[in-house]
Amino acid sequence: MNEELYERTILCPICEKEFTTKKMKTSAIRIGKRDEDFCPYYEGENPLFYGAFICANCGYAGLEGGFSKKVTEENRKKILNIITSKWYPRGYGGKRGLQEAIETYKLALLCSNILKDKNSIIGKICLRLSWFYRYKGEKSEENKFIHFTINSFKEAFTGERINDDEYDEVTILYLLGELNRRIDNYRESIMWFDKALSNPQIKKKRHIELKARDQWSTARNQYKIHQKAVENA
Ligand SMILES: [Zn+2]
Repeated sequence: MNEELYERTILCPICEKEFTTKKMKTSAIRIGKRDEDFCPYYEGENPLFYGAFICANCGYAGLEGGFSKKVTEENRKKILNIITSKWYPRGYGGKRGLQEAIETYKLALLCSNILKDKNSIIGKICLRLSWFYRYKGEKSEENKFIHFTINSFKEAFTGERINDDEYDEVTILYLLGELNRRIDNYRESIMWFDKALSNPQIKKKRHIELKARDQWSTARNQYKIHQKAVENA
């Protein structure tokens, strides 16, 4: 019996059967700190581990927020052909560890790609996967998912209306700066921080503005150090 978790019953939009999944009680969430790209560290259970749902019957997976959305008949068939045909019924409805969290988000990523979800959603899944690999200490996998996140967020910024309640346009611009900085792309990083800081919406996001200024100087300093090292090599 785990007091931090409760069970929810979800109706799958693909196979129309019900399955159960665990969620964390809001009152039990204890956040310790966050990295500059918002990667959170929790005392106790990590609620993000439960942020992707998987139907035990057909294998359809997605982020909690978009899971129950209506799918077209064409998309339903795609999931049945590509996912369900290879799926053996198994549940992810219990307590999840890091490995299970990674598996559920990877399946959600696959389904999102099949359904051609918005790039902001695909980027959000990739960003969380990069955090999971950071928890694990697997730098090369972390960086791989940072690259995927950058590509998706860039597409989101240029090609679609961003109205996600978690990541609005300014936050995505800030994240493009910070994620590029984390993989040592300092020039790109500075360019995206500049875009964030010159976006009129940033005045409504004081905490992002402060962070963007701080991380912009960090990236500038790192860039100078990097340039010196190149010149002296
Ligand atoms: Zn299903």
